[in-house]
Amino acid sequence: MTESSRRCYCSVPACSNSKQRHPYLSFHDFPKDEGLRKSWVRLIRRDEGLFFNILRGSTHVCSLHFDSADIYVSKSGRKRLKPGALPRRFTITTVRALILQVCMQLQRLVIHQYIRL
Ligand SMILES: [Zn+2]
Repeated sequence: MTESSRRCYCSVPACSNSKQRHPYLSFHDFPKDEGLRKSWVRLIRRDEGLFFNILRGSTHVCSLHFDSADIYVSKSGRKRLKPGALPRRFTITTVRALILQVCMQLQRLVIHQYIRL
């Protein structure tokens, strides 16, 4: 099966890029290395569990979240990540979603403190 015929979606919250709609982007599998994979999950602000399972070949992060210096073209012409590359680039929408998430957590904490007093 070729890369372009697979259904590829980006798993970063607030990023709705897909291979079908953005064929010029590359979609990267999560790393096999457990430590590195956990770093990716932490950086994209997701938790592995009931609502987020990482499956090789169907859970991806799109190339927009990586520095261009971390991406190279292999001999077979496929875009690949350099070993140890981490997703670091997030759009304003993603940042806004993160700020909202932090605000909600703070609010919960304040309510919690208030109940305790
Ligand atoms: Zn993305």
